[in-house]
Formats: sequence, C-alpha cells, structure tokens
Amino acid sequence: MPNCRSCDAEIIWEETDKGGWHPKNLDGTSHFETCPNADQHRGKSRASGGSSTAIAALETKIEDVLGRISKAAAMYTALAVRVTDLETRLKGKGTDGDGSTQSPTGSGTASGSDD
Ligand SMILES: [Zn+2]
Repeated sequence: MPNCRSCDAEIIWEETDKGGWHPKNLDGTSHFETCPNADQHRGKSRASGGSSTAIAALETKIEDVLGRISKAAAMYTALAVRVTDLETRLKGKGTDGDGSTQSPTGSGTASGSDD
C-alpha cells in the first residue's frame, strides 16, 4: 500500500481520465481534500512563487513605464523652454533688426547733404 509522501497516510493511486494519477484515501475520497499538506500535492507553493515572479516582472515593467513617462515629461519641459527661448529671441531680433538694417535716418541725412 502506497503512502502519501507529505502526510504519510495510506492512499490509493487512481488513474484519471486525463492519464494522470490522483491520490485517493482508502474510503475512496480524494486525498487532495483531506491531506493536511495538500498544497504540496497541487504545487501551490510553486504557483505562488510563480505569481510573485510575475508580480516582480510587472513591477519592473511599471518602473520602466514610469521612467519613460518622467523622461517624456523632462523632454516636454525642455521643449517648452526651447520654444519660450525662441519666442524671446524672435521678439528681440524683431526690434533690433529693424533698427540696424533699415536705418532710415542715415539715408535721410545723405539726401539732405546732397541738396
Ligand atoms: Zn497527504
């Protein structure tokens, strides 16, 4: 008679429809239901470990996304600063350029001396 590896109770191995083996108690009930260490049978500890790994992977992904968002925000701020800088430069060039290049006063004096 085989014994349960985790609780050492006497069990009967019964083949399932899927071709697997299911431990049963001597009274015919599933040993999964009565075994105090059923978690070990079902591999629950492995499953929880897997889910925690999945959570860790998700956390890494979230951190990656957050990093990208903060990078994008920094780029946006830099772009806004650039636009403001360009606007300021354009405004400055507008007044300075008009004064130096056209110089209507110089031509005015030239024509005046010619007279
Ligand atoms: Zn057991």
